[in-house]
Amino acid sequence: MIVMKFGGTSVASARAIERVAGLVGARIDERPVVVVSAMGKTTNKLLEIARLAAAGGRDRALTLLYELRDFHLAESGMERTVEEHFQELGEMARGLAVLGELTPRSIDAVSSLGERLSSLIVTRAFERLGIPAVHADARKLIVTDARHTHAAPIYEETYRRLAAAIPRLAERAVVVMGGFIGATEAGVTSTLGRGGSDFTASIVGAGIGASEIQIWTDVDGLLTCDPTVLAGGHRVRRISFAEAAELAYFGAKVLHPATVLPAIESNIPVRILNSLRPEVEGTRITAAAVPSSNPIKSIACKKNVTVLNIRSTRMFMAHGFLRRIFEIFDRNETSVDMISTSEVSVSLTLNDGSRLEAIARELAEFSEFTCDRDEAIVCLVGENIKNTPGIGARIFRAVQHINVRMVSQGASSLNLGFVVNAADLRAAVEALHNEFFSALDPEVFDV
Ligand code: ADP
Ligand code: ASP
Ligand code: MG
Repeated sequence: MIVMKFGGTSVASARAIERVAGLVGARIDERPVVVVSAMGKTTNKLLEIARLAAAGGRDRALTLLYELRDFHLAESGMERTVEEHFQELGEMARGLAVLGELTPRSIDAVSSLGERLSSLIVTRAFERLGIPAVHADARKLIVTDARHTHAAPIYEETYRRLAAAIPRLAERAVVVMGGFIGATEAGVTSTLGRGGSDFTASIVGAGIGASEIQIWTDVDGLLTCDPTVLAGGHRVRRISFAEAAELAYFGAKVLHPATVLPAIESNIPVRILNSLRPEVEGTRITAAAVPSSNPIKSIACKKNVTVLNIRSTRMFMAHGFLRRIFEIFDRNETSVDMISTSEVSVSLTLNDGSRLEAIARELAEFSEFTCDRDEAIVCLVGENIKNTPGIGARIFRAVQHINVRMVSQGASSLNLGFVVNAADLRAAVEALHNEFFSALDPEVFDV
């Protein structure tokens, strides 16, 4: 069996879904299990509806809701199903408007609607196009903890349910399920975090022992740079799990950072493919390292990064300083991406600044600090970084005209990352791309 996951763009319209049916139909012998995202930008719109409803913008929320309903009606023709789901959404939006409060649990109730609906729509479209299909409710299969909006799967129970249900269903039809969503052990709807459908695909792959996990998206594969920052990147043909995970973590949105974990454990290859250009062979992600004469495989970027520079006000309080700082981030459920320290000061980056006020209040008790918003991380990834003398010199010579704020290397041994102002991001990536990808190893890159 194989898992085929289709992202938002790949199922954004009736025509796009028809294309997907063609791709799945052509692989029917491999008994595909299809995991789909919400159609197009539906998840963003659902979150906006929830936010507006709870913040006193009930009418605006309902207008958006009707637009989203009409879009689903027009692209699916499934009047009853669509009406029922939007009826439910309308009730939730009115409830949020009355309460004036948005909890992570209610966010999940709203944002899960996109995948609940798209999976039904795709199942129906397959049937109409002559592909026998059966819908599986992801909320009955993917069991998670209760950390709503970024829930973690409870693997043992999830794998047990997947193995019991999917192969049996797949005997008679293509199984279609929504990505991104699950439910707690108590049955409350949860989500795996933004971009989480990739993660669902690999959980399903591991649960059923698939021979391959295919991530179908809107680019030719993993590229040597983030196309939203710099055009003209080359396709990476093959990359290791470790490298792909590092790139995903540092902003390569094409893959959710948790995707490779279940795949690594079960040693299932992952492939990234373009649903608009299926003839392109994509990027293959495998357990083995991928040797190459290019020491860097790709450059990832993370935008909207906040840098905190923290200094102890108790000059010689060296021990316990880091512990106190990290306890604050822990209490505020904020993760730190990059860190660099000296005796009495620490610089670190956060990519979620939503709890910054609370964090600042606690930090002020024993330190002084400055905070720079609107920074960006540039991260070069490649297993050969650690074995290539002089690579640091090449990197920093390439960006010598740019002010580098913070540097980190060595923590994972396959990345070198640094922080620049958001305004310098493109120039930095362009300079590095010229330096490292002017000559390409044809075994590993599409030249
Ligand atoms: P999907 O909806 O199919 O999950 P996403 O939007 O989540 O698609 O991910 C695909 C996008 O990831 C691409 O359109 C591209 O803009 C972005 N991206 C960022 N970095 C990279 C990279 N290194 N290679 C390819 N795509 C990248
Ligand atoms: N629809 C969800 C999101 O937009 C999950 C996904 O597309 O992977 O975040
Ligand atoms: Mg995605």
